[in-house]
Amino acid sequence: MGYDIERFVGYVNEGLLCCICRDVLEDPLQAPCEHAFCTACIHGWLVHHSNCPEDRQVLDMSVLRPLYRYMKNDLNRLQLHCKNSEHGCEMVCSLESIDRHERECEYGQISCSNAGCPVQIERRNLDGHLTVCEYRSRECPNGCGYTILRVEDAQHNCVAELRTELELLRSEMICRVEEAKHEMESRLDSQRRHMVQKESLLQNEIEELKSQMSRMMSDVRSLMAAERQHRQELEQADLEKRELMELLKGLQKDCRLNNTEGNKKSANFRPLTRLESVKRKPREVTVI
Ligand SMILES: [Zn+2]
Ligand SMILES: [Zn+2]
Ligand SMILES: [Zn+2]
Ligand SMILES: [Zn+2]
Ligand SMILES: [Zn+2]
Repeated sequence: MGYDIERFVGYVNEGLLCCICRDVLEDPLQAPCEHAFCTACIHGWLVHHSNCPEDRQVLDMSVLRPLYRYMKNDLNRLQLHCKNSEHGCEMVCSLESIDRHERECEYGQISCSNAGCPVQIERRNLDGHLTVCEYRSRECPNGCGYTILRVEDAQHNCVAELRTELELLRSEMICRVEEAKHEMESRLDSQRRHMVQKESLLQNEIEELKSQMSRMMSDVRSLMAAERQHRQELEQADLEKRELMELLKGLQKDCRLNNTEGNKKSANFRPLTRLESVKRKPREVTVI
């Protein structure tokens, strides 16, 4: 929409004025007929027209071009006052750098940075406003730890605030306890299942050991019986041996008698019959 020509210092070439708003060109575009316009101005014009507003030559958006470089340079070098000059800003700078200055101008109007505050204020006065802004937040003076906005002062109730917080904490705590309980129960359950499994395993092992033991006991019993039998057989053999020894001694005695007394054949038969009788005697075997 062009820069107000009143803001400029010194003479401004007429070629640098917009043919539509008659102010100094802002974001200029040039038609083939060499007439120049602000971008916003010519776009607005071409919505309802299809010619140059200056000489009525046919014109449309597609043939608009940037301004000639030398004109652009002339435009950029123009000196003008800050738009906040009526509020006290005395800055005069080139058109090229005016935007940068105005973005940071101390006299520019800005909104208070506290959320919800409707105050519009010059940038240089913001710090002063922030210290008294109704929307600034601060800690509760009673020490409850709550951050309150000035406008909430009247409604703030430490006890109610703390109670709400307490309720929140309590429900959170209950939740956590429930979770812990659940986890513990499931862990106990799995442990219990594990124990039951182990118990049945152990039971099986015990049964196995018991049957092994009873097998061993019967082995031991039969071994003991066999040993007893052996001992009896040994005793029997011992007895036979002793009888045989006695027989042998008797025979020797008979032999000596025969040698001294002469030939008595009948005497030879007695010990032999005794020996036969011993051999034929059935063995007494006791098995337990
Ligand atoms: Zn214009
Ligand atoms: Zn023209
Ligand atoms: Zn300024
Ligand atoms: Zn404020
Ligand atoms: Zn409080």
